[in-house]
Amino acid sequence: MSRTVYVNGEYLPEGEAKVSIFDRGFLMADGVYEVTSVLGGKLIDFAGHVTRLERSLSELDMATPVTPEALLEIHRELVRVNEIEDGLVYLQITRGAPGDRDFVFPDPATTPSTIVLFTQSKPGLADSPLAKTGMRVISIEDVRWGRRDIKTVQLLYPSMGKMMAKRAGVDDAWFVEDGHVTEGTSNNAYIVKGNRIITRHLGNDILHGITRAAVLRFAREAQMEVEERAFTIDEAKGADEAFITSASAFVMPVVEVDGVALGDGKPGKLTARLREIYLEESRKAAV
Ligand code: PLP
Repeated sequence: MSRTVYVNGEYLPEGEAKVSIFDRGFLMADGVYEVTSVLGGKLIDFAGHVTRLERSLSELDMATPVTPEALLEIHRELVRVNEIEDGLVYLQITRGAPGDRDFVFPDPATTPSTIVLFTQSKPGLADSPLAKTGMRVISIEDVRWGRRDIKTVQLLYPSMGKMMAKRAGVDDAWFVEDGHVTEGTSNNAYIVKGNRIITRHLGNDILHGITRAAVLRFAREAQMEVEERAFTIDEAKGADEAFITSASAFVMPVVEVDGVALGDGKPGKLTARLREIYLEESRKAAV
């Protein structure tokens, strides 16, 4: 079935949707994005994604082309017409198409931003088999730019990282800078020691995960200890448990780092509990 997608104010069949070859998203990766998951036909953590989108746009001096209310309406309409039960809504906003290539930002008064949304159907998104077996990760050097807190479409190095993981026969890669883990290729990274969850503090080095914020709140409410600080890859190898979070993976256990099994090599109990709480609470709050 051909999807209906949204491009600059119009709902169109995916084959008819077009963006200019001069679009700065295409030429310069001058764009930001968000991915919101859908469970049971409802949007998870929607308000958080919109707030982060506005921050990403503002950090890049880009205009916000739509109100949060209109964005919610577009998300809901795409979920409805594409009959998404479980899946994702991808949203991208770029600095538009000035009609030629130039490094200098175009005037937003004459070059409106481009906005594109589409859905991805993922039946059983919350029942991934990886949640039962756990993920294996390798560490790779973090050579991304210095503003990883802005959710830009510059995803070449994360893609290369996923390929390095694939070639190594594992599920993902964790970025390491000065011996310390920053985050996963498309997720935030955590280790667990006893009842304590350790994850890198917020700053420009990592994306401020919307799932991260919710999971840490739920963890604190459940009397788990949370320590927001950088941890080394060696600490990770000696951890009792580890996990990652993202909008599409929720809370996903990690059972091996660089070939070293964590704990008994199975998904940890605290991780499983957090996944359960996150899924339950976020489904309740879904819109
Ligand atoms: N870190 C990076 C580099 C990401 O790309 C993502 C998600 O795409 C995350 C963390 C997790 O963020 P969220 O929980 O908002 O999906």
